[in-house]
Amino acid sequence: MLEVHDLSVRYGPVRALDAVSFTARRGEITAVLGANGAGKTTMLRAISGLLPQEQGSVLLDGTDLRGVPTEERSRLGLAHVPEGRGVIAQLTVAENLRLGSLGRTRGSMPVSRERIYELFPVLGDRSEALAHVLSGGERQMLVVGRALIAAPKVLLLDEPSLGLAGRVVSQIFRTIRDLVERDGLTVVLVEQNARSALSIADHAVVLNLGRLVAEDSAAVLAQDEQLRHAYLGL
Ligand code: ATP
Repeated sequence: MLEVHDLSVRYGPVRALDAVSFTARRGEITAVLGANGAGKTTMLRAISGLLPQEQGSVLLDGTDLRGVPTEERSRLGLAHVPEGRGVIAQLTVAENLRLGSLGRTRGSMPVSRERIYELFPVLGDRSEALAHVLSGGERQMLVVGRALIAAPKVLLLDEPSLGLAGRVVSQIFRTIRDLVERDGLTVVLVEQNARSALSIADHAVVLNLGRLVAEDSAAVLAQDEQLRHAYLGL
């Protein structure tokens, strides 16, 4: 569903991503792992077109995204949930979700607000609350829900577990797994929390200093003692 070939990105003299290639297969979760500064966020931003690429190509469902602006990539089916849970604080939960439908992808079956409330019942309970009163976990659910309402082909998730309690992380990860299995969503999950990410991912890649150092099934990488120790802090 998403093919990344030889992707390089620079910030001035610093090459933050160096000829990285990987494939996120349809209906699977691909985890992108690595320590601070490995280049994970840079990669997601380049896939979305938020950062210019120095070289390489990105294909979404066979369409080459070279020269395609970010808003058009979104209409073609890419949804990007950045780090930081950027909700619109002065709008209600329901209004924040409605914003997601403005970015609805072409030709897809829209995901209803009711389906989002089924996936994250707490959002239904708090639909008329202003977003600024939500907890960190509820905000994370809201930004994922807002991305899903656009019915993307690929969901790019940047560090959804950051700063959340283990119980909340498990709930969000279970829901993402459910979406992949029941709705056939394709997910690219960037995480420093390698243990949790490997437990729900099908496939994983590991970045170090901008280079890809490993790629395999999540089950195989989870068993690789040397790799876990060297790059994943496990
Ligand atoms: P983290 O988990 O801390 O977000 P990451 O794996 O997502 O780490 P990136 O944020 O992609 O890593 O950063 C990759 C490299 O690029 C780092 O060396 C970082 O210092 C550098 N970098 C990131 N953003 C910029 C920028 N705007 N200008 C210059 N260098 C940057």
